[in-house]
Amino acid sequence: MAKGHNHFLTEAHISAIVYGSMAKKIAILGSTGSIGKNALRVIDALNSSPVAGHSSLDKEYEIVALSANSSVELLAEQARRYQPRFAAITNADFADELRELVGDLSIEILAGPDSLTEIAQLEEVDILLTAIVGAAGLPAVLAAAKCGKTLAIANKEPLVIAGELLMETARKNGSTIVPVDSEHSAIFQAMQAGAPGEVSKIILTGSGGPFRNATSENIQNVTLKEALSHPVWDMGPKITIDSATMVNKALEVIEAHWLFDVPVEKIEVLIHPESIVHSLVEFVDGSLIAQLGNPDMCLPIQYALTYPARVGGIAKRVRLANIGKLTFEKPNSEVFRALPLGYEVARTGGTAAAVFNAANETAVQEFLEGRIKFVNIAELIEYCLNKHNAKTTASLEDLLQADAWARREVLECLKQKVR
Ligand code: NAD
Ligand code: MG
Repeated sequence: MAKGHNHFLTEAHISAIVYGSMAKKIAILGSTGSIGKNALRVIDALNSSPVAGHSSLDKEYEIVALSANSSVELLAEQARRYQPRFAAITNADFADELRELVGDLSIEILAGPDSLTEIAQLEEVDILLTAIVGAAGLPAVLAAAKCGKTLAIANKEPLVIAGELLMETARKNGSTIVPVDSEHSAIFQAMQAGAPGEVSKIILTGSGGPFRNATSENIQNVTLKEALSHPVWDMGPKITIDSATMVNKALEVIEAHWLFDVPVEKIEVLIHPESIVHSLVEFVDGSLIAQLGNPDMCLPIQYALTYPARVGGIAKRVRLANIGKLTFEKPNSEVFRALPLGYEVARTGGTAAAVFNAANETAVQEFLEGRIKFVNIAELIEYCLNKHNAKTTASLEDLLQADAWARREVLECLKQKVR
């Protein structure tokens, strides 16, 4: 996929895109989260770096729309600073507060979950950065793909649930998808070293999370605080828990399968605690091509925005001599049950991934609110998958139904346990 695009881009094209007189217009869904805030830092830096032939007043990137779920004060602050045309608050209970906070500015306020789809379809949006969390991002990303937008996707859950449909919609409508997830950004970059038919394997790396060396016994009683203390990455709460359960790696296997059209048998997970090698592609001749960088999302975010060009930015350089050694080990599928379940789901296809994801989202919420134990998360996912009759070919309607079913099933199961 990556290669195809590069083949048709001359240097003149690239400089027209990157250094052209027209600013790239960006909408950020989830601008108040971990990815969203980093994206704004990246954009600030891109806009302030001097570019040949440009006056310092020219902006390379213009923010057209920002969104948050309920972080109304931060959204208002961002809106005041970036003066987008639209600011959306998906939890409509906060709409009046947002109106009050930015009422003096000429910003259109949107409210409710549909506002994300509205933003995704705006004529003036060139790049949609999806940085919200969970399945809630699905309608907007599908709408943007239908409109042929460039999609910088951090919000991996919609790709996991409806990867086939999303990739097909993007292909049909000329929408370019550039992954932001660090592993997928690495694979996307490594893929440019060969043709899709020359890929023999994808190696997805993962830090192993806070419980990398745990045994089946001592993982039973880990606390929320321990699960939220990721050894390497600083991220939002949901993905931090997903990293601790290794659900994140399972989601990423499915994400890679759809993004790169590689069968799941050819995707291997490798634990790499230093998180410097962000992933690798093995080609048929045995060459391994990797992308390395510090564990900092600014680099993959920037690459997704400047693609196909590379420009200077705020990411700190890797100093390999200071790091000394990089280590790799196999994941422990006995302790981290979610990983083999993820592979099973990827092989089943259809509605299975929607169930896996929805059961996880619901269970993680329960864990974050202190109602279940850490190990219950994988158990609840497995419980739902065992109970579910997966449809192997699924329409959008089927996927949404499977998602809703799994959410109900988790809550129902927990209610019965309490009784
Ligand atoms: P976060 O919790 O820090 O931020 C989430 C953002 O989405 C916030 O702006 C919040 O207001 C908004 N939001 C939350 N729920 C919403 C809903 N139901 N509807 C609309 N908006 C909602 O999350 P994050 O860590 O930035 O992660 C965002 C996405 O990027 C996730 O899908 C995650 O898996 C993926 N991702 C994150 C990282 C990272 O370093 N944080 C790395 C790779 C991938
Ligand atoms: Mg990742």
